[in-house]
Amino acid sequence: MIEVKNLCKNFGDLEVIKDVSFTIEQGDIFGIIGQSGAGKSTLLRCFNGLEDYQSGSIVALGKEVKDLNKKELQYMQKDMGMIFQNFNLLNRLTVYDNIALPLRFWKQNPKDKENADRIHELLKLVGLEDKINSKPRELSGGQKQRVAIARALVMNPKILLCDEATSALDPKITQDILALLQKINEELNITIVVVTHQMEVVKQICNKMVFLKHGKIVASGKPEELFVSSNEDILDFTGNDV
Ligand code: ATP
Ligand code: MG
Repeated sequence: MIEVKNLCKNFGDLEVIKDVSFTIEQGDIFGIIGQSGAGKSTLLRCFNGLEDYQSGSIVALGKEVKDLNKKELQYMQKDMGMIFQNFNLLNRLTVYDNIALPLRFWKQNPKDKENADRIHELLKLVGLEDKINSKPRELSGGQKQRVAIARALVMNPKILLCDEATSALDPKITQDILALLQKINEELNITIVVVTHQMEVVKQICNKMVFLKHGKIVASGKPEELFVSSNEDILDFTGNDV
């Protein structure tokens, strides 16, 4: 689904990703964990072409990302929804119109029956049917993230990329959002990539993970194996609290 091989990425003289290789398979909830500045967001942004890379390869959905032209990249991005820590909603638009934004980009009419049905279906999935006409400022953080999730799903992506999706939320709301991501993975069969510095998140929903430190993978495998191992980097990261 996403195969990363010997990936290297620099910003000028700064090496941010250093010879990273791993594979994300269809159906995974795959965790990328590490401290601030480890290169997690940069790595995620390489997957959908928001960042380029100097060497190595990323084959996503069967295609080498760096070989795609602009149009092909747009189609790739359509297949990869993305959500962020700060939700990135447009404040002047209603919940409905925020969810409809990708449809407009793809020159579809959000009021067409098929699209309207789709948006209502997604509102139901994320549990916000009663907020359809609200503006983002009238919503809680958790509700805003639900809108962002619905928007990320509106074009029927195969993969959902989550960059610190729960980092701005309190523990109870984090639990609700994680449960929603699990439901999306199971019911819609969408592969999910979770970038986070919160080990609880990885422990709870990921079936596989890589641990990134200064741009390198220092541990990888199943969370339940890594968090009980005596891996020094993980113990260091978690303050021995595992
Ligand atoms: P955090 O947990 O704080 O979000 P992260 O693991 O996501 O951190 P990145 O945002 O990927 O880390 O940043 C990795 C490194 O790359 C950092 O040293 C950062 O300063 C640098 N960096 C990120 N984006 C750019 C950019 N556009 N130009 C130059 N350097 C950048
Ligand atoms: Mg980041």
